[in-house]
Amino acid sequence: MHKVICIGELLIDFVAEHHSGTIQEAIHFVKKAGGAPANVACAVQRLGQSALFAGAVGGDPFGDFLAKMLTSEGVDTSFIQRSDQFTTLAFVALSEQGERDFYFSRGADAALTADTNLLPLFDKAMVHFGSATAFLEGPLNETYRHYLGAAKEKAALISFDPNFRVDLWKSNKESFIRQSLPFISASDLCKFSEEEAFLLSGKDTHKEAANHFHQLGTKLVCITLGYQGTFVSLNGEQTLVESVKVTAIDTTAAGDAFIGALLSQLAQHARVNDLLQSLKRLSPLVAFANKAGAFTTQSYGAIEALPYAKDLESPL
Ligand code: ADP
Repeated sequence: MHKVICIGELLIDFVAEHHSGTIQEAIHFVKKAGGAPANVACAVQRLGQSALFAGAVGGDPFGDFLAKMLTSEGVDTSFIQRSDQFTTLAFVALSEQGERDFYFSRGADAALTADTNLLPLFDKAMVHFGSATAFLEGPLNETYRHYLGAAKEKAALISFDPNFRVDLWKSNKESFIRQSLPFISASDLCKFSEEEAFLLSGKDTHKEAANHFHQLGTKLVCITLGYQGTFVSLNGEQTLVESVKVTAIDTTAAGDAFIGALLSQLAQHARVNDLLQSLKRLSPLVAFANKAGAFTTQSYGAIEALPYAKDLESPL
């Protein structure tokens, strides 16, 4: 069994409810735990594997809430740091036309510093870099790159999800692309949305984008395509692994459930690298991850919508 170590942000999503419009007009905000790498850690844990989350929250009641939430999910929280800065808050409101109004109050997540005690745990681990905020300014940026180097040195299995958020990179996409490339090069597996695949490769087909990422160095490319499933590219073979049909009501965290489920499957194999040789052997794992993503779309929220192993035993 390999431990899955997820690095990045854990934050509060304040989601405007009972109202459609802008953040300025909204009155009721519901407090939810957020942060893609934290969602992935919870997904892994719910699917019966062992996850550790490393990230920073504030020494305030929101930080307490977040740390407690991850602990209650069974995630190893011993590498959560408490910063003097306030916990990072993201506010989201949707207009009736579905337009997103987003405001980000960056705080403690940026303060993550490297902890040398984490490095020995990289041995035989799977290290997932799935942060949406790590390429912004702050100590996390350097910490993230430091941990990438350490994971490579320890020959950990490295997973990368760029988690591009257009709201955070409106005028500076080039910086996002530039900073993502070393992660793609160093990773054994990368998960992209279609938008990310095209943005980061500069190509406009799945096939070309995947080939570009292989040239950079990654072995396995998964491009997740919502209800259609996942385009998978490995070792010269490419295929679409279809998802299952569900009635989707909220796609939040579907991608996190997908990568968490894929990692949880890989974590059970002693010789993971053998699985990363053959598309035939890997496809059932991707199908399982698709099912986890599909399951998550059937209810509202992020962590609360993620499946447990028993939820995926029978058809959805
Ligand atoms: P992201 O949230 O990163 O954009 P997706 O929305 O593509 O990721 O979802 C990840 C995976 O979850 C998809 O590849 C697919 O297998 C599954 N999934 C997502 N939405 C649906 C849906 N509406 N119906 C069935 N499966 C879905």
